[in-house]
Amino acid sequence: MEQDTSAADPSVDELRARYHREQQKRLRPEGMAQWGELSEELDRDPFVEPGFTREPVVEETTVVIVGGGFAGMLTAIDLGKHGITDVRIVEKAGDFGGTWYWNRYPGCMCDVESYVYLPLLEETGFMPTEHYASATEIFEYSKLLARTFDLYPKALFQTDVTGAEWNDETLRWQVTTSRGDQLSARFLVLAGGILHKAKLPGITGIEDFEGKAFHTSRWDYGYTGGSATEPMDKLSDKRVGIIGTGATAVQVVPQIARAAKEVFVFQRTPGAVGVRNQQPTDVEWFQSLEPGWQHERIVNFTQAVTGAQPEVNMVNDGWTELLWVDTQKSSSAEEAEELERIDFEAMETIRRRIDEIVEDPATAEKLKPYWGKHCKRVCFHDDYLPAFNQPNVHLVDTDGRGVTEMTPRGPVVDGVEYPVDLLIYASGFEVTTDLTHRLGFDLTGRDGVTLSQRWAEGAHTLHGVLASGFPNLLLISLVQGGFGTNFSHLLSESAKHVAHIIEACADQGIIEIEPEEAAEEEWLSVLLAIGIGNARYFQNCTPSFYNSEQQAIDSRAARNLTYTGSLLDYVGYLERWREDPDFAGVKVLRESER
Ligand code: NDP
Repeated sequence: MEQDTSAADPSVDELRARYHREQQKRLRPEGMAQWGELSEELDRDPFVEPGFTREPVVEETTVVIVGGGFAGMLTAIDLGKHGITDVRIVEKAGDFGGTWYWNRYPGCMCDVESYVYLPLLEETGFMPTEHYASATEIFEYSKLLARTFDLYPKALFQTDVTGAEWNDETLRWQVTTSRGDQLSARFLVLAGGILHKAKLPGITGIEDFEGKAFHTSRWDYGYTGGSATEPMDKLSDKRVGIIGTGATAVQVVPQIARAAKEVFVFQRTPGAVGVRNQQPTDVEWFQSLEPGWQHERIVNFTQAVTGAQPEVNMVNDGWTELLWVDTQKSSSAEEAEELERIDFEAMETIRRRIDEIVEDPATAEKLKPYWGKHCKRVCFHDDYLPAFNQPNVHLVDTDGRGVTEMTPRGPVVDGVEYPVDLLIYASGFEVTTDLTHRLGFDLTGRDGVTLSQRWAEGAHTLHGVLASGFPNLLLISLVQGGFGTNFSHLLSESAKHVAHIIEACADQGIIEIEPEEAAEEEWLSVLLAIGIGNARYFQNCTPSFYNSEQQAIDSRAARNLTYTGSLLDYVGYLERWREDPDFAGVKVLRESER
């Protein structure tokens, strides 16, 4: 007989009121200003030997790419296929991989299926070992990509770009670096990472903490023992605190729960954690895939997670199930109500799962997320919730306030001090701060105007890629660009577009390319029209980096929007632009016209 749970289910009105209360608790007047920056010491790359030096490089190339993560690598690979090989890649890390270079914390993996996440699987012939690849495997795969497509000779590692200036005489970018390099390039590609600049929680006294502390993207295995693939063997006598309960913490907590004497999880907003169901790759299935399978699967996944509901749901996992219906936009009050009900139900499933797994009812209650399914990134994990059944794991819920005070011994919550030996900041990354701040340098474009000056009142771009006043500059970022659950799909399409523009210029003798301001304003109106459609939904969300901590949207923030519609629609804009031989909305100067 089926159990009747309806009596216990909260009503739509109750849930609406609860979501509102939870949101209100978390609104902070300081908005984005709450976050702090990593000190030089905390930001240091723990994965390279100190003391690296090299001679400065002085050279001219066709392209300089800033960033050696997937975006930069894929751009260089695409250019190479087109015969443009004089490309220089400048990367602050000690190797390729971007996010997957930095994030080596225990348990780190990609929450998007590996067959749609890892780019170019058909070309490399690589078979991921599991449905959801570990960070270690993805980092190794990045290196495989770099070897396969001969990217290593192009790379300057452990090198920060310090500035880039457009020269109106030579029509080239002059790029300077922290190693004294002087790089001259016809085209400059900024692929500097989306989740690249780590941030710290705003806690009074954070700098006074005297124990060991690090951010998850700078994991110190020297302190914890073990490695990304071996158990941490130096924590068995340690009290460990972790601040944050986002996608990173959900993966880390089970690992420290296994290794540490005591674990304190400091929670501001509970994460939503659905079923993961990790499986090894079915080798027979993988080998039976027909050419062209990966692109088809990637598109199918993005359709399924943007509410396009394809006929076949190829990936068929927690993501596609949860996001099968896009509940953000509605065209009538009736539809809005129906979508709200669907959203509540999806999140109720997540909340019920907590009751099923977490044994202590009070802890279970505190772990329940009361926010809409598009408000934050939902997580999928099978070991996070069970960790709270371990006697050494303690949830320190702050009822939406977060940890606000720290002593030299540890965090203080509700007047109680929690002394810890190790404090782990799973506090995420800057996403919607100024691009130049995240990149760590400014650019000087035409007439000596810097990017921060030109964008002082918000960004001006065509598709988030070309920017007026900055000829031959190509951007891959979220500023006025696309967005998607599968970031690697977004980065592949952006890289393809950037490479196409450079290739088209090379083929047609174009030495200068720059968008018209009118075309940028048209693009802005597309962004705003889509953004307004989602605004009602986001208004009701709990603060997060998805909505710039619910900071009021002024005209500047409105200009810095991403394309909030489906990634496939964004890709459609790029494709249609590429199909037009006349470079619509763009001014070009040909060598022959100079
Ligand atoms: P997030 O920004 O998602 O999480 C930061 C956490 O810190 C939040 O839980 C936040 O609470 C909490 N926090 C901030 N200040 C305080 C405070 N004072 N006291 C207590 N808690 C505090 O960062 P993550 O690193 O988890 O994830 C960032 C992004 O990285 C993800 O959205 C995802 O895009 C990506 N990622 C992807 C993975 C993948 O598998 N593909 C895996 C891991 C990360 P609050 O929610 O209230 O702000």
